[in-house]
Amino acid sequence: MKYYSINNKSVLVDFKQATIEGQAADKGLYFPTEIPKWEKSFLKELKTLNKVHIGFEIMKPYVGESIPEDQLWKIMEETLSFDFPLKQINQNISVLELFHGPTLAFKDLGARFLSRCLGYFANSIGRKITVLVATSGDTGGAVADAFYNVEGTEVIILYPSGKVSIVQEKQLTTMGANIHALEVEGDFDDCQLLVKTAFADPELKEKLFLTSANSINISRWLSQQIYYAIGQSQWTHEESPIVSVPSGNFGNICAGLLAQKSGLEIKHFIAACNLNDVFTRYLATGNYEPSSSHATVSNAMDVGNPSNFVRITELYNHNIDEIKKHVSSNSFSDDATEKTIKNVFEKHRYLLDPHSAVAYLGMEKHIDQFPKDKGIILGTAHPVKFPSVVERVTQQEIPIPVQVEKVIKKDKNAMRVAPNFAQIKSLILQILQ
Ligand SMILES: *Cc1c(COP(=O)(O)O)cnc(C)c1O
Repeated sequence: MKYYSINNKSVLVDFKQATIEGQAADKGLYFPTEIPKWEKSFLKELKTLNKVHIGFEIMKPYVGESIPEDQLWKIMEETLSFDFPLKQINQNISVLELFHGPTLAFKDLGARFLSRCLGYFANSIGRKITVLVATSGDTGGAVADAFYNVEGTEVIILYPSGKVSIVQEKQLTTMGANIHALEVEGDFDDCQLLVKTAFADPELKEKLFLTSANSINISRWLSQQIYYAIGQSQWTHEESPIVSVPSGNFGNICAGLLAQKSGLEIKHFIAACNLNDVFTRYLATGNYEPSSSHATVSNAMDVGNPSNFVRITELYNHNIDEIKKHVSSNSFSDDATEKTIKNVFEKHRYLLDPHSAVAYLGMEKHIDQFPKDKGIILGTAHPVKFPSVVERVTQQEIPIPVQVEKVIKKDKNAMRVAPNFAQIKSLILQILQ
């Protein structure tokens, strides 16, 4: 399998290069040159296959020659080391819980798959790979945990001092070993700019094998298809499901659309959005008008210009009518989101986090229109990660999961730095030498 840059189709690379680079030199996102068709027998047998087998079959054509099969199998075992249960909330709506990973975020799967692939490549090229990321909170934790003790990799995380939650800060700063946290006296934009400057710095480029662990990386994007197949493997209704995806950068839903194109039986997709409604408006008007982001209670979806939008249009040959055949979109207010968390808890005793609640709203709206349909919403975060909202509206204390308990007890270990590139650069070189 080869991948091209969406900005220039003549730039072709294999899985290894696309994963190591993250993004093409022309800043284009990578896209596969062909969409594999999944075997009928594989689709029929889904219910009898275990999740490692499912993940292996899905990723094999995408990985191609870049990783030998026995290694890919091992990577899958390490990636899929937690459960993805499908739970029924009411007669029409089930939730696929994607938040049982080590940092309670659905991003754990993609980050783990990427870390193992980079570890394998570092080994085969005989050079350490240094991952440099800026985080506003969640990505950093998932990346820190995923890369912890992965041989051949070092990770430097820049996060804004005082602007991440206590749990998030602990997830970032307590790992040790090959994970290094820099607490930047500035905001997220400062962190992002510092990382950008580092990638453009000739000396760093020469001394280190730098890469990012960005969500646009094909390893993170493509491996999310596995969720949809695992969801399907637990689906017991006759008719295929509607799937509602709480969307921000649209990587997750775009992976679902890709799985559908490969043959997975999903009747329709709902891109459920908060007030950041650039995609909802695009489907309604045909105009794509990105804006700056608005802060909401489902903050991992506060994106004004979703990076995977171009992959969705690429998937359907830039034909908006084709896109609309497969996906609808709605946008919901914080008020509606909070009411849903409360109502679903009171009626069904199920605790939704704010992101999953937006997905629930999208599904509910669909079911109002098509009462016979049955659907799956993707549960992308554990409610304990958003206690201020969830506990306030439900008046319930959320039991602390072991993953959080463990990390809270550990001591923070971060280097505090001013947002000054020269200082940070010498610090990075010092850490890694
Ligand atoms: C990242 C994230 C999303 C949005 O996923 P995209 O792939 O960016 O659309 C939704 N919910 C949670 C909890 C997230 O962390």
